[in-house]
Amino acid sequence: MCAMASHLARALQLTLLDYSSSRGIGFELVRQLLASPDNLVVAACRNPATATALHDLKDSTRGVLHVIHMDVSHFDSVRASAKVLEPILGETGLDYLINNAGIAARDTAFTLDPDELLRIFRTNVVGPAIVSQTCLPFLQKGKRKIILNISSTAGSIATVEEIGARNTSYSISKAALNMLTLKQKAEWPDIITITLCPGWVKTDMGGEEAYVETEESISKILALITSATAADSGKFLRYNGEAIPW
Ligand code: NDP
Repeated sequence: MCAMASHLARALQLTLLDYSSSRGIGFELVRQLLASPDNLVVAACRNPATATALHDLKDSTRGVLHVIHMDVSHFDSVRASAKVLEPILGETGLDYLINNAGIAARDTAFTLDPDELLRIFRTNVVGPAIVSQTCLPFLQKGKRKIILNISSTAGSIATVEEIGARNTSYSISKAALNMLTLKQKAEWPDIITITLCPGWVKTDMGGEEAYVETEESISKILALITSATAADSGKFLRYNGEAIPW
């Protein structure tokens, strides 16, 4: 856990909504944020009943945790979650919305399965769009008003030669998520929207050969977003704050 991130978080008294938080990067975000007693964290995941690690956090940490059901690819249920969020965030508003849920496939442009491309697009792009629409009234009431879209350098058009042909559907979806971020900024300039690559992180998606530990990635992400200002809105950043070419 990063002391600086939790110190900043405490100073700001965060309310934070994290999609999704059952494991990997989303879980570590929740874990680090709950180290601060002033943070109210809403952790959304597909199966709250089986997310035992999340529930266990309730006993061992100091912040306030609400675990809610959310499948970002089921849009009606995302919209319906406004009713669940109202009693939690209605008074305080939402400081940070983190759109973290993501899926990938090992495919190429000339082998991709069209249904798989649509499934990935639905989760990685349409999901964050509808979640953000649903959370907009809460964000407008919040003190910080930050949307963090978890993207990837795989979505960078400028550096596509580095990744080559692989992970085509995933790359297409993250490039689209980057555009969504800029469109969100254009429509609501008072909301700080950032699209960010967490690094190559050791999770189920990143695999064992990844070189960034979840603790390191998340502590840097938290330091970055808790100190972000309007000047950072519309940026495509690495977890350590470096700019990524679009
Ligand atoms: P994991 O595969 O470890 O976890 C993915 C998470 O997304 C799980 O919590 C999963 O929930 C959730 N999820 C998937 N689909 C849905 C859905 N329809 N509704 C709600 N939740 C869903 O991935 P990471 O933690 O590594 O990745 C998190 C984000 O970071 C993703 O957006 C990914 O693209 C991005 N990223 C990751 C990198 C890495 O190296 N790890 C590199 C660059 C970007 P469940 O447990 O229910 O399946």
